[in-house]
Amino acid sequence: MAFEGLTDRLQSTMQKIRGKGKVNEADVKEMMREVRIALLEADVNFKVVKDFIKRVSERAVGQEVLKSLTPGQQVIKVVKEELTELMGGDQSKIAVAGRPPTVIMMVGLQGAGKTTTTGKLANLLRKKHNRKPLLVAADIYRPAAIKQLETLGKQINMPVFSLGDQVSPVEIARQAIEKAKEEHHDYVLIDTAGRLHVDETLMGELKDIKELTKPDEIFLVVDAMTGQDAVNVAASFNEQLGLTGVVLTKLDGDTRGGAALSIRAVSQTPIKFVGMGEKLDALEAFHPDRMASRILGMGDVLTLIEKAQTNVDEEKAKELEQKIRTSSFTFDDFLEQLDQMRNMGPLDDLLKMLPGANKMKGIDKLSIDEKQIGHVEAIIRSMTKAEKEHPEIINAGRRKRIAKGSGRPIQEVNRLLKQFEDMKKMMKQVTGMTKGKKKGFKLP
Ligand code: GDP
Repeated sequence: MAFEGLTDRLQSTMQKIRGKGKVNEADVKEMMREVRIALLEADVNFKVVKDFIKRVSERAVGQEVLKSLTPGQQVIKVVKEELTELMGGDQSKIAVAGRPPTVIMMVGLQGAGKTTTTGKLANLLRKKHNRKPLLVAADIYRPAAIKQLETLGKQINMPVFSLGDQVSPVEIARQAIEKAKEEHHDYVLIDTAGRLHVDETLMGELKDIKELTKPDEIFLVVDAMTGQDAVNVAASFNEQLGLTGVVLTKLDGDTRGGAALSIRAVSQTPIKFVGMGEKLDALEAFHPDRMASRILGMGDVLTLIEKAQTNVDEEKAKELEQKIRTSSFTFDDFLEQLDQMRNMGPLDDLLKMLPGANKMKGIDKLSIDEKQIGHVEAIIRSMTKAEKEHPEIINAGRRKRIAKGSGRPIQEVNRLLKQFEDMKKMMKQVTGMTKGKKKGFKLP
């Protein structure tokens, strides 16, 4: 999980000061020493750490904090606000061109995740913002890059514009924009070529594409796991090309988080999205305030709720509620639930967004076993329509048939039937308890 070490260290530091009735300058100094070490260990840029500590210290020994009734908590508030500021302050938005299509140039070094991110971004624009993007394969040098984008396009059912690898990227971009206008695409996402290092040829070509397409956004894709290298790459791309945003990929595998905390300050470019996995829905809008909250171990309930909202169909949710109330929940509904859960991403990632989750023992080892879900699905799919709707008719003979049909042992079929029965009982109890109560809940 991202920021693991940093969160642990900062939390224990904060713990010491949180409940203090009185805080003096020496306390703040001691705390800042620990925060400084924590940030450096997380591979945050040295100068960034220095400036950060200076700003927090100045504010923390100010009168508003030391004289307040809860000085400990005030200091933590200052740390959180400054962390937010460090990562970009207010959440940055994605541009919309006055006259469509909005052109987004995706740039970056090889292996950073540029092509994957281009697919993810198109997916997000359509799913969350109802847009109609056109993907453009303009990386004509990396073998298989065009094919990769085409495969991604197929997976998310989106068109990919390509002219093979014999036409110049500038010409590809020009024709793609023409096509987008003709076919009423509102976004054009150009997957440009990457190189192993920043070099003049690469920059020259990117500048040419920029000149011709006048992009509304130039997003640099960098790999969080490369730490300070990612920060330097961002600074150099911004200097030469002028970036509008950074997409930080592989944050799911980055245990330190130094790049996330340094990029904005060093390269003057805000992070707009973060990649949280290889799957095509693993791209999140970057909210500095929520990330600061996650880093401090305070959770990120807002992102969790948004994830649920994009993945759960409201009509279906209402239907389900009705079914639970009337105890007519069937195995078909159960299958649908499994599918929705899958769409939300790995359960362990979701749990980690809960406040204090990093303190829960064993949470790292917790994950839904995809294989097991597959087995459950196989068993349910081997049932007849009547059996799915009225599992009580499944007698010994039927159990045997289902086991055979699904290729699973009969004990597993028995276990699933028992679990389903228990679940229905539990639902009855829960709906009994909430009957008459007002709907909705208050957020913390
Ligand atoms: P490109 O050369 O920059 O176009 O890189 P690719 O898009 O081919 O990605 C390189 C590798 O990184 C692929 O194996 C991707 O699946 C993987 N990848 C990209 N983004 C993420 C991410 O956010 N998390 C993880 N874990 N892997 C990612």
